[in-house]
Amino acid sequence: MSGMLERVDLVIVGGGMVGLTLAAALRNQGMRLLVVERAEPSAHCSLGIDCRVSAIVRGNVDVLRAMGVWSHLARSSPIARMQVWDDQEGGGIRFDALEIGEESLGQMVENRHLLAALRRVLLRSDGVELCSPATVAGVAWRRDGVRVELADGRALWTPLIVAADGARSWLRQQAGIAVWRHDLRQRAIVATIKPQHHHRQVAYQRFLATGPLALLPMADGLCSIVWSADNARAEQLMAMDEEAFLRELQLAFGPSLGRIEQCGTRTAFPLCSRLAHHLVRPRLALIGDAAHTIHPLAGLGVNLGIRDAMVLAREIADARRFDEDWGAMEVLAEYRNQRLPDVLAVMGAMEGFHHLFTSRLPAIARLRAAGMRLVGNSGPIKSLLMRNSTGLSLPIPREV
Ligand SMILES: Cc1cc2nc3c(=O)[nH]c(=O)nc-3n(C[C@H](O)[C@H](O)[C@H](O)COP(=O)(O)OP(=O)(O)OC[C@H]3O[C@@H](n4cnc5c(N)ncnc54)[C@H](O)[C@@H]3O)c2cc1C
Repeated sequence: MSGMLERVDLVIVGGGMVGLTLAAALRNQGMRLLVVERAEPSAHCSLGIDCRVSAIVRGNVDVLRAMGVWSHLARSSPIARMQVWDDQEGGGIRFDALEIGEESLGQMVENRHLLAALRRVLLRSDGVELCSPATVAGVAWRRDGVRVELADGRALWTPLIVAADGARSWLRQQAGIAVWRHDLRQRAIVATIKPQHHHRQVAYQRFLATGPLALLPMADGLCSIVWSADNARAEQLMAMDEEAFLRELQLAFGPSLGRIEQCGTRTAFPLCSRLAHHLVRPRLALIGDAAHTIHPLAGLGVNLGIRDAMVLAREIADARRFDEDWGAMEVLAEYRNQRLPDVLAVMGAMEGFHHLFTSRLPAIARLRAAGMRLVGNSGPIKSLLMRNSTGLSLPIPREV
């Protein structure tokens, strides 16, 4: 049967930031790769900035730089410092990249720009085919390969198919992989705002009783906000006109950046933690949001996905070097074993922070404040936390 089919070395379903990172990492391996993306590139802007922005941690900036992607970014904005504080007990903590001998803790990018940079790199690569808009109509796993039928009638045969098709992954469902799911009962409101004073490359995170509010430094002194709030509160905030919303935002954030003068279009996303019961199956690997989603409070979702993509790319490239079957469980299990501890640690921490910071119990609030003081006053613990959260201490392959 496979003789009649078009043979490709890898099919990636989903051309979001993570799927395209995997393709970019493998583009010089002499493979025939096919990325199937259902949507045309589009963005929803707020004061001229994409509503969807990502804080890319230093370790992953280095990865994207080494792959030749970063130089194609239209713009990015460094995060030199972070200020985190607790609304209820008043405890706080500051992080400065200089404390770990770095110029920045990470960079803020607009998702549309990172996607465009990845696409640009891929369009110049022989062997990579970006099918967009396109969808997979059917997939059938066999012992020695996967038969993939695209909606336009093309039929493919590949040793491995990768699910990079986001939180509600169609491919994950086709494989019958169940998901652990925790509805966080919050929505994240995102928008761009214009504060009176320049943010001076500081990322602010304020933990309110109703959820965390982040102000993230973007180009031209503008800030992206990610305001996660209980569903009822989020609905209220979304229903307000700009003037009323600005008043609430000012009240919630305080005077650190002076008056908040303007707010662009707001969009709200429901928040849910998810973890697929299996990251791999024979001839299938899950990466990015198809494998796991977390609370955006630490801005780590796509960062985890980039690490998934890099580790999987390394395993595939190594298997090819040794003439092994890269769709076989032995190879895919290596990917799973390397990624699971990092994914579980980050998910556990995000769940813990979510509960810790939304608790209104006075004893928990005091514990939080004491914890922040302890970390803030202990140089080594703080440095370790910074190196871990920026991905600088993780063994992620920079290139494949
Ligand atoms: C408010 C908010 C703020 C965030 N901020 C940050 C941050 O600062 N830092 C960070 O690291 N993370 C952040 N995240 C998380 C981050 O956005 C996600 O982790 C990231 O987008 C996941 O990328 P992905 O490529 O895995 O999935 P997606 O971005 O969901 O991409 C999946 C792609 O697959 C395509 N697709 C879907 N189904 C199909 C199909 N059947 N066939 C073909 N194609 C398909 C989609 O069109 C899409 O292009 C944030 C999330 C939210 C909600």
